[in-house]
Amino acid sequence: MNPSISENLSALRSQIAEAAAKAGRASDEIELVAVSKAQPPEAIAEAVQAGQIVFGENRVQEAQAKAPLLSSRIRWHFIGHLQSNKVRLALSLFERIHGVDSLDLAREIDRLAAEAGLFPKVLLEVNLARESSKHGFDPETLRAQMEALLGLERLVLDGLMAIPPFTPKAEDSRPRFAALRELRERLATEFRVPLPELSMGMSHDFPIAIEEGATFVRVGTALFGERKGKAWKPENAAS
Ligand SMILES: *Cc1c(COP(=O)(O)O)cnc(C)c1O
Repeated sequence: MNPSISENLSALRSQIAEAAAKAGRASDEIELVAVSKAQPPEAIAEAVQAGQIVFGENRVQEAQAKAPLLSSRIRWHFIGHLQSNKVRLALSLFERIHGVDSLDLAREIDRLAAEAGLFPKVLLEVNLARESSKHGFDPETLRAQMEALLGLERLVLDGLMAIPPFTPKAEDSRPRFAALRELRERLATEFRVPLPELSMGMSHDFPIAIEEGATFVRVGTALFGERKGKAWKPENAAS
């Protein structure tokens, strides 16, 4: 039999604690974001039963369909590329947006947050390896646009996020994770802002990310197993 979601969750919590201890950090500095994209509500409910409260989704409409079927205690984080026409809905669903990847998007979030009376927490996504296939600020562009970003009154801009290129050996991602931490330190010093949060690390490399300072790890497969398909739709619901 496959290990259950609750067994996977306890294993993950131990691995998080172990990686934190190795780096001399307290394990409560690290928030596990359970990436539930493409997973059915039943799987998410099982994780909630086992004590998980923070879940990450990368499609606004999928989260909108699933949220009403699940515990209202869940805190949803958006981890994907947010299109500007989905910002209003995203603000109503998510307590945090991990991947703000352009100044235009940041401005749109700021504008609609003002309308809605919200102060959304956001992380800026950095495209560390300057991959054309990925979203995110180029580190130089981010530096150049930092003043403008900090001028947006509604955004609670409290850290950085990255999805480094996949490497078969997790250890090979370490320099990228370290680079995100160093960029955070440089920006925090230069612009005199605390940027405490670092969202980095996924199923195959989260312990390394924790050793390099991650405060959010985004883990899907290691908790839920392989995803079947790209998205969950209400018409797939078990009846
Ligand atoms: C899917 C996804 C994850 C989780 O990936 P796993 O390898 O399943 O842990 C993390 N972050 C983002 C941005 C994702 O899209």
